[in-house]
Amino acid sequence: RLMSTSAHPQPSIGRFTGKPDPTTGKFNVSFIEGDGIGPEISQAVKDIFKAADVPVQWEFCDVSPIFVNGLTTIPDKAVQSISKNLVALKGPLATPIGKGHRSLNLTLRKTFGLFANVRPAKSIAGFKTTYSDVDLVLIRENTEGEYSGIEHVVTPGVVQSIKLITREASERVIKYAFEYARAIGRPRVIVVHKSTIQRLSDGLFVDVAKELSKDYPDIQLELQLIDNKVLNVVTNPASYSDAVSVCPNLYGDILSDLNSGLSAGSLGLTPSANIGNKISIFEAVHGSAPDIAGKNMANPTALLLSSVMMLNHMGLNAHADKIQDAVLSTIASSSENRTGDLGGSATTSSFTEAVINKL
Ligand code: NAD
Repeated sequence: RLMSTSAHPQPSIGRFTGKPDPTTGKFNVSFIEGDGIGPEISQAVKDIFKAADVPVQWEFCDVSPIFVNGLTTIPDKAVQSISKNLVALKGPLATPIGKGHRSLNLTLRKTFGLFANVRPAKSIAGFKTTYSDVDLVLIRENTEGEYSGIEHVVTPGVVQSIKLITREASERVIKYAFEYARAIGRPRVIVVHKSTIQRLSDGLFVDVAKELSKDYPDIQLELQLIDNKVLNVVTNPASYSDAVSVCPNLYGDILSDLNSGLSAGSLGLTPSANIGNKISIFEAVHGSAPDIAGKNMANPTALLLSSVMMLNHMGLNAHADKIQDAVLSTIASSSENRTGDLGGSATTSSFTEAVINKL
C-alpha cells in the first residue's frame, strides 16, 4: 500500500473525518455515476482505481429524481450513503427541462450544505493550447446569488429574478478561500465583484471580505471588478498563479468556464470539489454531453482529476499523485492517446487503457 505524504495540505475548514472500514481496510465512497456520458467516464475511474490499488470501496447511488410536491428530492438511500461516507464522486446529471423546480445538482448542494465550489484550472505540460502557464484557482459561492431560484412574473412581459446574498453564506465561502490560500501557500485572495452597480448585494460580499481579511494578516486581500478581472485573466492568466479568487455564484460559474478554456481549451479536463463543513462531493465541471453519450467518445479526464482531488481530500495523496501523473502524461504523450475533444483519435476505453499502462 502506498504511503500518504503531506504534499497536499488541506484547508482547516471542511476536512475529511472519515475512517476506513475496519473489516476491509478500505474507505467507503458514494458514487453517483450520472446521466449521458456519466456511466462511460465512471467506468474509466473504476478501472483505473482498481489498477492503481486504491483503498476505496464504491457504494453506488441511484439519484433518479423524485418529485415531491413539485420539488426535486434525492432518494433517501443516496442521502444516507453520502451522509455516512462523508464523501462522494459524482458524474454529470442532466437537468430535466420544465419538470422539477430545481436541478438535482442544486438539490445535492442544498441537501448537504456544500457551500464552496473549488475549481482549479491548470495547463497540462506537453499539451499545447493558447497558453502554457495557466494555474488558476477559483472558489465559487455555491448556494445563493442568482441561483436562489426566486423568480416571478410581475406582470405579463415583466419578470423579476432575485439575487440573494447573505452575510452567513458570504462569510463561510470567503473564510474558506482565505483558509484554502493559506493551505496551498498562495499569498493573495482576490474577491471578484461588481459592487459599483450591485451596491448592496456585492457590497455586502466585499464588506465581509474586508472584515475577514483582518484575521489573515499573512494574506493580501484584493478587490477586482468582474469586468476588469475577465480582461486580465484573458490577457495575462499567469499573473494569477499566486492567487485564489473567490466570487458570488454566477460570476464564479462563468469565470470558471473561462479559466477552463484558457488552461485546457476544453471543459473535458476541469475537475471540481463541492465542499461542506462535513461532507464533500467531487465532480467534473462539464455536463452529461448527450450529443456523444453511449459512443465511447467522452473524455474521462475531468472526472478522473475530480477523483484525484477527492483522494487528496481523503489524505490518500500518493494514490492521487500516481493517477494524476498517469492521466497527464497520457494526454501529453501523443494525439493517438487523446480523445476527440482534444483533437485526438482515442476512445474513452483506449484512453483508459493507456492511463492504466502508465500507472
Ligand atoms: P455539456 O457540458 O454536457 O456539453 C457541452 C459540450 O461539451 C458538448 O458538445 C459535449 O459533447 C462536450 N463535452 C462535455 N463533456 C465532455 C467530455 N467529458 N468529453 C468530451 N466532450 C465533452 O453541457 P450541456 O450540453 O449544456 O448540458 C447537458 C446536460 O448536462 C444538461 O441537462 C445540463 O443541465 C447538464 N449539466 C450538468 C452538470 C453537472 O452535473 N454538474 C453541469 C453542467 C450541465
